[in-house]
Amino acid sequence: MSDVTLYIYKYLFRLVLLHRQLGIFTVSDRMGEPLRVVVTGAAGQIGYSLLYAIASGGIFGDKKRVTLLLLDIPPMMEVLNGVVMELSDCSFPNLAEVIATDKLDVAFKDVDVAMLVGAMPRKEGMERKDLLAANVKIFKAQGAALVQYAKKTVVVVGNPANTNAFICSHYAPSIPKENFSALTRLDQNRAQNQIAARLGIPNSDVQDCIIWGNHSNTQFPDVCHAKAKVDGKFVPVQDAVKDDNWIKNEFISTVQKRGAAVIKARKLSSAMSAAKATVDHVRDWLLGSGDRIVSMAVASDGSYGIPAGLIQRNGNWKIVQGLEINDFAREKMDITMKELLQERDDALKICEQDQQIACQK
Ligand code: NAD
Repeated sequence: MSDVTLYIYKYLFRLVLLHRQLGIFTVSDRMGEPLRVVVTGAAGQIGYSLLYAIASGGIFGDKKRVTLLLLDIPPMMEVLNGVVMELSDCSFPNLAEVIATDKLDVAFKDVDVAMLVGAMPRKEGMERKDLLAANVKIFKAQGAALVQYAKKTVVVVGNPANTNAFICSHYAPSIPKENFSALTRLDQNRAQNQIAARLGIPNSDVQDCIIWGNHSNTQFPDVCHAKAKVDGKFVPVQDAVKDDNWIKNEFISTVQKRGAAVIKARKLSSAMSAAKATVDHVRDWLLGSGDRIVSMAVASDGSYGIPAGLIQRNGNWKIVQGLEINDFAREKMDITMKELLQERDDALKICEQDQQIACQK
């Protein structure tokens, strides 16, 4: 198998147990400096909810001061200015500074944490592949900017999130692969909520749902290892639900198509829930998830049939090992893997063509 073929497997998906703090967090604390956090697409819908959560201490806690660097495109600067005014008016005690810009070098300067949200959102009736051409170039440029200016821990939210994370990391070769991840937590939250609603129990009583694959309608929400609290004790979700047909069909389909259902109803893509999932993702990454399994798209280490060897890994998350993958799960995982392979190929082709055009100019 070629290196390129191996590489694609990396942004497939992964379940990870997060267990210790990132160095950057401790270093910034020791130096008494605010954490520098860039949010791209800061004038957009997700940005609006996410900035509030960050500034109010929802991720880094109420003891940690934060400098927010807000990036958007030139036509959005007036809107972004309004967001900056609102952040000021909130009078957050731990918000050290807000810097709004349309320049990559300003936005990425010395950042500790990058939340790459900005991209073109999917509209009603639009397929993910239509988004690809528009969005991968953004993440190619931001990968290069991260290398040049940032300190770097990166979460990618903008769709197609897995492939954008792959491209961003590809064009940031000097940054360790384990510093990149893509958001699949929204899908996990959706899956856990579906189970909780079915059982009539609180969301907090369902844990360890796994999301395999692409953040798209080929993803595989897997409850084989998930637990639900029934009558005061955790039992396997399958035993609690007692309806395999529902789990294999309606449940999976509802989670896979939830993004489209929200778009159909709201005429806009998920924003509040995406921001909340980003908060969950980054907080668990930096502070740990305890004994909960959480889903993030990260680089593969070769487990679960995904080739190893390309990535040096000594990161702050850990891929959960030894989970049994049954035939049903394998089939679903292979479908979404195939889609990611195609996306990867298309994305690389777009970036290479872009490079050739740039050289000809
Ligand atoms: P939005 O259109 O409201 O906001 C996007 C913002 O990004 C806009 O302000 C736009 O000007 C900005 N932007 C565009 N190109 C940019 C660039 N090159 N640099 C910086 N900013 C740029 O969209 P939204 O609802 O906030 O969604 C943002 C992205 O998140 C979309 O791609 C959407 O599909 C994706 N999303 C992902 C998930 C997930 O679970 N991974 C969930 C929901 C939405």
